[in-house]
Amino acid sequence: MLGPPGAGKGTQAERLHEDFGLLHIATGDILRAEVASSTPLGIEAKRYMDAGELVPDEVIVGMITQRISGGDARDGFLLDGFPRNERQADALGEALEELERRLTAALLIEMPDEALVRRLTGRRMCVKNPTHIYHVEFDPPKHEGVCDQDGSRLIQRDDDKEETIRRRLQVYHSQTEPLIAHYDAEGVLRRFDGTRDPDEVHARLRATVATLRLEDP
Ligand SMILES: [Zn+2]
Repeated sequence: MLGPPGAGKGTQAERLHEDFGLLHIATGDILRAEVASSTPLGIEAKRYMDAGELVPDEVIVGMITQRISGGDARDGFLLDGFPRNERQADALGEALEELERRLTAALLIEMPDEALVRRLTGRRMCVKNPTHIYHVEFDPPKHEGVCDQDGSRLIQRDDDKEETIRRRLQVYHSQTEPLIAHYDAEGVLRRFDGTRDPDEVHARLRATVATLRLEDP
């Protein structure tokens, strides 16, 4: 899954996981799990995190490769949040080659910056229950700033502040966006319009994955 932050990669990956039983590999989750269970790679990753440094690509690639080698990934897997840059993409390519596997598709969910900023900055979360989520424009509460379900105050998370989102988009444009050309050149890129209704995006993704699986069982 490829696309800017907020385009819905995680949600769509989860739905494809349900449709096809594809193993959903979310980099953030794997990293947290490895650190929590103190695996050798987890211990190494924690050293960098404790020092306030980014976990190096090799460590991340090691974790992903290990996950892909597992029996539960034999029938297919979805990578969500990885690769994030060309170095990771190259390392992934080499790792897959060694496993005698390859990427069938790079599913790109496209969305213009302004639409993403609008979608993300409008999110409001209940202070009492973080699963109570609203959107000032697309899913407003009955009373401004108040949770419909329990009357608690609604807040904007720091992650949803415009400045944070613009910074993440900048990183996406400079580091991750070059992968679009990379996978297009390999002939595996498939584009999806992320401004459409999420159900429609899902239907199109599902149809594409179904076709790919027929072509390459
Ligand atoms: Zn609430």
